Amino acid sequence: MASKELGFIGLGNMGAPMAGRLVDAGYSLTVFDTRAAALEPFTARGAKAAPSPAAVASAVDTVLVSLPTPAIVRQVALGKDGVASGSKVKTFVDLSTTGPRAAQEIAAELATRNIVAVDSPVSGGVAGAKKGTLAVMVSGPKDRHDTLVPALQVIGKVFYLGDKPGLGQMMKLANNLLSATAMAISCEAIVMGVKAGLDPKVMVDVINAGSGRNSATQEKFPRSILPRTFDYGFATGLMYKDVKLCLEEAQALGVPMWVASAVQQLWLVANGELGPESDFTRVVEVLEKWAGVEVKAQN
Ligand code: NAD
Repeated sequence: MASKELGFIGLGNMGAPMAGRLVDAGYSLTVFDTRAAALEPFTARGAKAAPSPAAVASAVDTVLVSLPTPAIVRQVALGKDGVASGSKVKTFVDLSTTGPRAAQEIAAELATRNIVAVDSPVSGGVAGAKKGTLAVMVSGPKDRHDTLVPALQVIGKVFYLGDKPGLGQMMKLANNLLSATAMAISCEAIVMGVKAGLDPKVMVDVINAGSGRNSATQEKFPRSILPRTFDYGFATGLMYKDVKLCLEEAQALGVPMWVASAVQQLWLVANGELGPESDFTRVVEVLEKWAGVEVKAQN
């Protein structure tokens, strides 16, 4: 029987709703985040706040993290007062998108401390994290996966990709390349239509009833672009990071990616123009500026 006690580090856009669901499901959490405000809703619900990743890892045997970048995950796992310095931890579960190479390096380092690393990146956005409908992409030792399944099922549908560290991350990068591409090309197509006089709301309805539909036209446009709320909950800097990690991986594997290279350029420009903290749905504004139009429903 798996323990109902877990550590959770990184209570941001994704971490907070995932950890919230675990509390709802009866898990007792020890939490850490560099932002004190992120901890409050959890301590108010009975979670214990720890002063460092090492302290989390001294309180529980399984630590989940949901952190922005590979560098931060590496720091939290292996740096000063990191998870690796904890006295109780046996399993490190990375829910972040860090790429296969970072996952492999971190797994190798943790193994020297008898800590097993499990890749577990997720897809489905903040809405999926709240509803518990994420795609959860696990790689690592099968027995560890089996032990984690009850907790991971609280946040989504669990897929086991294999025992090699990094396979879950590779799966996630392939998925996010498609998501980044859908967003880029949908913005181009809809900005063009608006400039020609089409109503973007009607365009989205037609596309979603036709063969052009994709995750941008089905989710991002209706929820955050057409109402111009730009509040989807995923940062431009993180989207750019994911495409960049994917292309680095493709290059290391010797796989050409022409379309992905063009998509990366768009996200690079968006990251520079809009800033890494901006919501990634604002990418449409980069194309609007070039075209001199605004993607806004006509009534
Ligand atoms: P976020 O920036 O909203 O959250 C990250 C959290 O980590 C913040 O609360 C921040 O304070 C905390 N943090 C930063 N440095 C820390 C440190 N050194 N120690 C402890 N806490 C620290 O990011 P997010 O959108 O929740 O994304 C987290 C990860 O999940 C990223 O790797 C991202 O690519 C991935 N992801 C995001 C989404 C999404 O839709 N937002 C979807 C799938 C995957």
